[in-house]
Parts: sequence; C-alpha cells; structure tokens
Amino acid sequence: MKKIITIGEIVVEIMAADFGFGFREAITLVGPFASGAPAIFIDQVAKLGQPCGMISCVGEDDFGQLNIERLGRDGVDVSAIDIHPTLPTGSAFVRYRPDGNRDFIFNIKHSACGAIGLTASGEALIDSADHLHVMGSSLFSDGIVGLIRTAIDRVKAKGGTVSFDPNIRKEMLDLPGMREALVHVLEHADLFLPSGSEIFLFAKATEEGAAIAEILDRGVKAVVVKRGAGGASFHSASADILVPAFEVTEIDPTGAGDSFGAAFLTCWLRDMAPDAALRIANASGARAVLAKGPMEGTSTMSEIQAFISSNAGVSA
Ligand code: ATP
Ligand code: MG
Repeated sequence: MKKIITIGEIVVEIMAADFGFGFREAITLVGPFASGAPAIFIDQVAKLGQPCGMISCVGEDDFGQLNIERLGRDGVDVSAIDIHPTLPTGSAFVRYRPDGNRDFIFNIKHSACGAIGLTASGEALIDSADHLHVMGSSLFSDGIVGLIRTAIDRVKAKGGTVSFDPNIRKEMLDLPGMREALVHVLEHADLFLPSGSEIFLFAKATEEGAAIAEILDRGVKAVVVKRGAGGASFHSASADILVPAFEVTEIDPTGAGDSFGAAFLTCWLRDMAPDAALRIANASGARAVLAKGPMEGTSTMSEIQAFISSNAGVSA
C-alpha cells in the first residue's frame, strides 16, 4: 500500500460551549481537542488503514502529548513529530456565532508549529513516502514553505504523487510570498481539492467549468470540489461526476473538508473508481460534521460502510 505523508500544524482546539461572539467575557470552554487541518487529515488516513506519517512540531507539554498519543494510537507514524524544548504547542480557541460562522484566536506561527523544519527523522519519513498531501493553511512560515518544496521535489523525483487542499482564506493570499508558494504547490499537484470559491483562487475564469479546465490544463490530473451539504464532484480530462451529500444535521463543521480529502485520496491511491471514492469521502465528511470536536468525527472503513448502508437512499 502507498504511504501518505503530510507536513504542517498540530494544535489543540478549545471550543466555547455556547454560541456567541468572541471571547470578551468569561465563558464555559470545552477541550482541549486534538486538531490542526493536516493532523485531522492524516488521522483520517490512518483510520482507513493506509500507511501514513506526519512532519510537525509540538511543545514539551500536555497539549503536545495529547496530539502525539492520539495520532499514534490511530496508526499515524509520529516519528517525525518533533518536540520543541521551549515553545508551547499551537492552539486555536473557537466560538461559533449564531449564524454558524466561527470566531478564532490562533496561536500557530509563534508556537512550536513555527519551528517546523527538516530534521533527520523528517528526511527519513519523506524518503519512505509515496504521496505528499499539502494544506494551504500550513504555509505560514518561510521554514515550512521551504520544507514543503523539498518534500515535493523528493517525492516527485522518485515517481510519487502530490495532492493539494488550498484550505485558505482569501486574506492570507495577500501575505508576502504566499501566492507564489501556493502556485508552486499547485503546479506540482496531481490532485487538487478546493472547496467552494477556492476553485477560482488560481484561475482567470469566473465560471466554474472554465476555471476547472484551466486547472486541468496546468497539468493537475484531477480536481475534486467539496460542496458542503451539496456533496462533491470529480473532474478530469475524461470525466465530470457529482455525488450528492448524505442528509445529516450538522453539529460541528470543523474537520469535514480534511476528513473528506483524506478519504478521497486514500481511495484514489487504491485505484478506486471516482464515484465510489466520492461516496466514501462524502460519508467521511458527513460523519465528521456529526461529531463535536475537530478530529472526533474521523472514521474507520467499517464505520463508513455501516454509515453508507444505514443511509442508503438518503443522499441530499
Ligand atoms: P472545512 O471547514 O473543514 O475546511 P471544507 O470547506 O474544506 O471544510 P466542506 O465542503 O464543508 O469542506 O465539507 C467536505 C465534505 O463533507 C462535503 O463535500 C460533504 O461531502 C461533507 N459535508 C460537509 N458538510 C456537510 C453537511 N452539512 N451535510 C452533509 N455532508 C456534509
Ligand atoms: Mg477546507
């Protein structure tokens, strides 16, 4: 089986118990939960039984241990997760507003995440990989941008593949060097997994089909568009396939896109047909929104299959 690796932030997420606006008074909090977009992604890959690992850095503290223990227990190779002697593990405080939007306070760049770099165990992990998955949210420091470039070059040089989930807010594009870094990843990606308007981040076209065609023309083999409660679609030179979502009542949307991407990619690397892979990925995303906590809704293949069987015919 092909080994999947990712590089990026590991954080704890601490959530407000109630809806509201921000954190300007004392409120009840729930957490810490294991989190970080690439961490959620790789946890879902591991639960599907695929060999996988992650390059990251946490602090020498309970938040770091919580994440390492969780990822290790679920089957992720944690040998390249460094423990920084002084910087604390990254964190994200989140509160849902009544309209479902989120207020975040992040401590990522100035946490142990900011010290992610190439270590001997990181090099060994890259050399053992068949596939690299990159999240746009992980490109928050020059060190990590350089590391991801190195990993892309090494994985590609030995015939491996790359996937890219932009997972980025438009404001981030204005940071110096960010657009160039993202375009570099896209130019080397075999599989591109945007959600909603992210399709247009790297295209001149303003119409969806034309924007997808532009991305495919750049050499990307397949584009998979995440459409929330609208399901997901697969686009390649020879196919355009839309698979509706499962009908569920969303409890916590965080982690759906990461879980979906992990499930789709794992199936794709196992040479599954795109419609079957989309169905499994939709089930992974639907199960993710049913669980409170960013990584709490990741699924094993048998949980996904049981979910699909019991929800047969209730696609939205
Ligand atoms: P994230 O907030 O994690 O970055 P995203 O925008 O990358 O999310 P979404 O499109 O929100 O990704 O979700 C990914 C997939 O999860 C969807 O394509 C769908 O299959 C499933 N999903 C998400 N929300 C729902 C929902 N409300 N009902 C059913 N399925 C959902
Ligand atoms: Mg996303």
